[in-house]
Amino acid sequence: MSGKVFELTGLLRDEVESLVEQMDQPRYRGRQLFRWVQARRARELAAMTDLSLAFRKTLEATVTISRPEVAHAQQASDGTRKFLLRLADAEEIESVLIPDDDRLTACISTQVGCPLACRFCLTGLMGIRRNLTAAEVVGEVLTLQDQLEPDTRISNVVLMGMGEPLLNFAEVERALRILCDEQGAGFSPRRITLSTAGHVPGIKKLAASDVGVNLAVSLSATTDAVRDQIMPINKRWPIAVLLEACRAYPLPNRRRLTFEYVMLDGVNDSADDARRLVPLLRGIRCKVNLIPFNATADLPDRPSPRDRVEAFQQILCDAHLTATIRESRGRDISAACGMLRTEKDREG
Ligand code: SAH
Repeated sequence: MSGKVFELTGLLRDEVESLVEQMDQPRYRGRQLFRWVQARRARELAAMTDLSLAFRKTLEATVTISRPEVAHAQQASDGTRKFLLRLADAEEIESVLIPDDDRLTACISTQVGCPLACRFCLTGLMGIRRNLTAAEVVGEVLTLQDQLEPDTRISNVVLMGMGEPLLNFAEVERALRILCDEQGAGFSPRRITLSTAGHVPGIKKLAASDVGVNLAVSLSATTDAVRDQIMPINKRWPIAVLLEACRAYPLPNRRRLTFEYVMLDGVNDSADDARRLVPLLRGIRCKVNLIPFNATADLPDRPSPRDRVEAFQQILCDAHLTATIRESRGRDISAACGMLRTEKDREG
């Protein structure tokens, strides 16, 4: 393995154990090393004082521990914090920390930009630059955790930042396994939610995987004519095909799918839309999360008036669907849903 560099942040515990075995060390040394990187968030081998100097020397030649760097940080009036993170190749992503009464949610990115070009999302205007590696996705969470006081812990992770996670399935799945390892950050999969624009092959792969995180699906329309317009991915996997995959998605006891629905004035927010949604979702254990549209000058749509959002919600509730309205967080620093776009892109 001489000359070969392993990025530790993106290795599963099992892989770290095998790696140290190849260095004639017992496997438990690998667990120690994994714990140093993932649970204690060490950034230097020098800090790992319970590993012998000779072993650390060997490691020095073989492994790196890299992290996205905070290039810029902003705090919103509601306490939401947005971070511009710089990756090793100088590409940039945004990640958000959202404090709530009893939780602290990290909203993380899975791609630099996004290829899906949803009409209501700023990230879509960037186009896709590249996928993140598992090390970068895990590194986002570790870097965000490092920004917090020692007694404050990220409680939830949502893959709702920049990018379509299911277009980067292998690296995202690997990152989730690392984050959920009880010897590492130790997140319960129940506290992690992956949100997709409706990439059906990815939903099927996730259904077959055992990572066990929650799934949210951005539906945002009740007819293919409208969904084709606002979410071009619908032309590939239309509503019926998408909901078929959702219906087949295996859910553990007491868990539900989430359908996200961005409320766009005069586009998808009518009483007829709400009434159409009911039979579409029949037979799927789910809840609906209505998202007030975060408008900006660069996007064509306007937000639905609040009373229309509430009327929409009422129709769903009357039909015995659980429907909540997402309170937008961090809007004043463009940290809210669909507002993540890096400065570089803005400057063009
Ligand atoms: N690609 C994934 C995850 C990123 S988007 C997905 O599409 O689900 C995360 C959520 O933000 C999605 O539900 C999306 O519909 C919503 N969203 C995007 N742009 C928005 C905007 N301008 N205002 C409100 N919500 C938006």
